[in-house]
Amino acid sequence: MTATTKCQCGQLAKWAGEPGVPIEFDPQTGTYVLKLSDTVVVPDPYCVFCGGHVPFHRPKNLPFCQCKLLETWEKDPTLPIEISGTGNSYELRCVIQGHPGALHIWFCPACGGTA
Ligand SMILES: [Zn+2]
Ligand SMILES: [Zn+2]
Repeated sequence: MTATTKCQCGQLAKWAGEPGVPIEFDPQTGTYVLKLSDTVVVPDPYCVFCGGHVPFHRPKNLPFCQCKLLETWEKDPTLPIEISGTGNSYELRCVIQGHPGALHIWFCPACGGTA
């Protein structure tokens, strides 16, 4: 099976190795899984950093997120998705090397639209 992930920047691979970040590699499918909770799981997510595009070469006029899942997740206090400090973007709360942290979300992991 050819592993085709929706990531060109390598960040999914990097964070999949970090136990405090809810991104995991699934060796069965050769893709990544975004595991927000036991019930909210996004198989084969778009990379939240590059959206599957070559970094800094995102297509022009890329649509905003159409699925609205980020909005839905943000309203659920049990999920680690929050509005960032600036109020107009999302971030993924996680633990990085034992310290509470957050990853900025540039692309919707579910539909690949601009977050
Ligand atoms: Zn990426
Ligand atoms: Zn979306």
